Amino acid sequence: MVLDCAIIGGGPAGLTAGLYTTRGGLENVTMFEKGMPGGQIMNSSEIENYPGVTGEITGMDLMMPWPKQCQKFGLKHEMIEVTRVSKDGDIFTIHKADGTVDEAYSVIIGTGSSPRRAGFKGEDEFFGKGVSTCATCDGFFYKGKEVVVVGGGDTALEEALYLAKICSKVYLIHRRDTFRSAPNTIARIERTENIELVLNSVPDEVYGDKMGVNGLKVKNKDGEIRDIVVPGVFTFVGNDVNNEALMQEDGSFLCEISKTGEVIVDISMKTSTPGLYATGDMRIAAPKQVVSAAGDGAVAALQVISYVDELLN
Ligand code: FAD
Ligand code: NAP
Repeated sequence: MVLDCAIIGGGPAGLTAGLYTTRGGLENVTMFEKGMPGGQIMNSSEIENYPGVTGEITGMDLMMPWPKQCQKFGLKHEMIEVTRVSKDGDIFTIHKADGTVDEAYSVIIGTGSSPRRAGFKGEDEFFGKGVSTCATCDGFFYKGKEVVVVGGGDTALEEALYLAKICSKVYLIHRRDTFRSAPNTIARIERTENIELVLNSVPDEVYGDKMGVNGLKVKNKDGEIRDIVVPGVFTFVGNDVNNEALMQEDGSFLCEISKTGEVIVDISMKTSTPGLYATGDMRIAAPKQVVSAAGDGAVAALQVISYVDELLN
């Protein structure tokens, strides 16, 4: 049986695509998710910017009902990694990690992106408990407090400026003495009074207790250690888009990809390959929020319903 739609990734984008395709009348839709459905927001200890959710809620609390809601309308779920998606004529082939394949008339991919880890001691242990990669999401928790930002690119500098408006002070830790950022952004950093530059320095160890982070030890190029007492550490050392499933055997991609690896889509989430839609954090210019990923999933699903209808009738 050829699936009406194969959904790759079970984060907010994939799950919403699953809801809208099945509820919109497609009968054979399978979502392939390599782990537990829910996506990267499952790592967040608190989410307070998802519309309509007003109480204290973890990322896991937010996402738990989503798969059940989709199953009610007939979404099938396979817990497996998709290693490659290819296309021959009108039919996509979904290659799975166990060596088996499925076929589909359309594909919605939402495999997300993964913030790079900086690699210092305690970073993994305190991730989501004081170490964060999302200032929009977690900055407000440190209102009026001091925080650290790690990184020297556009993202780190822009997020440091954002945090400086909320927090009493931002220590910007960068491993060199020049930034990899737009001159205008660097100038804004230099004239922001509550940003202290800690240059030629790298994080050595984040420490804390079961309540969260208490501080960060930073090492400079002479090997001297400075202890910065803060409850929050934000790392922005680059992101990797999870686009591997679109890579073909010859190293090319199934659709157009930007220089930095994001999938190029139009406002309908259409890629350059007919029948293939890309959603959420992996698509170009993504706001990297749960609400926008879910929105992308709905937009792509509505497109897929028309695409499959036209293809088969
Ligand atoms: P993801 O959530 O990344 O989901 C992609 C899914 O695809 C994953 O479940 C992954 O396992 C799966 N997958 C990947 N590759 C494959 C494959 N080859 N085969 C099968 N499955 C695959 N946003 C907010 O709006 N508010 C917040 O407060 C907030 N807080 C955050 C806190 C943290 C700590 C983090 C890390 C992020 C936070 N975000 C927040 C951002 C938000 O989580 C993302 O923008 C959102 O999850 C993106 O959804 P997505 O569906 O595009 O991708
Ligand atoms: P990036 O440009 O790759 O910068 C990553 C930064 O983190 C670099 O300064 C790097 O240091 C540092 N770093 C990397 N690994 C580290 C480690 N292990 N420990 C400590 N520091 C580490 O990533 P980005 O800032 O996320 O930007 C990604 C792309 O998006 C860029 O092309 C950027 O221009 C673009 N972007 C543009 C805008 C905009 O136009 N407004 C905004 C955001 C992002 P080094 O400098 O020493 O390598």
